Amino acid sequence: MTARFAEMRQNDGFDGTAVPAWQMVPVNGTKTVKLLDGLGLTVTSRNPPIATVEEVPMCFADGRREFRIKGKRVGTTTIEARRGTHLQARLDVAVKRKKVVKVAFNFVRDNAGHHTSRSSASVDAWVRTMNGIFLPQINIEIQKKSTRSVRVNKNLGSVVRFSSHLSGVSAAQHEWDDVIALRDSAADFNFFFVWEYEQDATPGTDNTDAGALSGNCLFEDAAGTEIAETMAHETGHYLGEKDYYAAAQRPWLMYGYTDSRGRKIPKAHANTMNP
Ligand SMILES: [Zn+2]
Repeated sequence: MTARFAEMRQNDGFDGTAVPAWQMVPVNGTKTVKLLDGLGLTVTSRNPPIATVEEVPMCFADGRREFRIKGKRVGTTTIEARRGTHLQARLDVAVKRKKVVKVAFNFVRDNAGHHTSRSSASVDAWVRTMNGIFLPQINIEIQKKSTRSVRVNKNLGSVVRFSSHLSGVSAAQHEWDDVIALRDSAADFNFFFVWEYEQDATPGTDNTDAGALSGNCLFEDAAGTEIAETMAHETGHYLGEKDYYAAAQRPWLMYGYTDSRGRKIPKAHANTMNP
């Protein structure tokens, strides 16, 4: 069998599809990884000032060993497993600083009685779920900057639209700007909870759950059931990552279809979101 590093648990900052395998480690934090079929190998860090590695003592040996990696300084290095001089397995390590994203949660109404059915009582649980996705994988912390009730002084109708990119739609239909004008400018990213949102030529058909652009996201009431996961996905757009639609990309947070996606943030996305 070939020696190889493996994750201790799912969605903890390990990317086994990267070559070499990859692990995110927070600066001043630790991550534990497995080394499979690595009995007798010597495991070292190529750059201990960036990250150190030490074996976790275990009561018995079944071919699996565990190693704790400590992040010392922001940067990248490689953990190597050798027999003598012969390299048997490698694990790239990225030590990342904590990046804080301040988020505003805006509950929208208009002057004609349309309003979101969402409640500000949900915000803390959403933040917890988002941090459960981002902190262990990419060392990003979502901080609740504000929870606000905002009123657009206009009748937005039954569908709030982004339509300025469509030809033949009257300018008045483009309501995005009316909503985001109410953003909390002290926050990095603003969610606006609206009753119904569309951004295509068929606003009568519910095709879109949310749209994110330049630090703002309109998020409708009928956006599926995995609300906080979808909010994390939209935050991923704010952090610079796009949608992916291939079946094999379904485990990813950035998979494009609501409620069928997983929570995985692979190496490439991690380096986009928290470079
Ligand atoms: Zn998306």
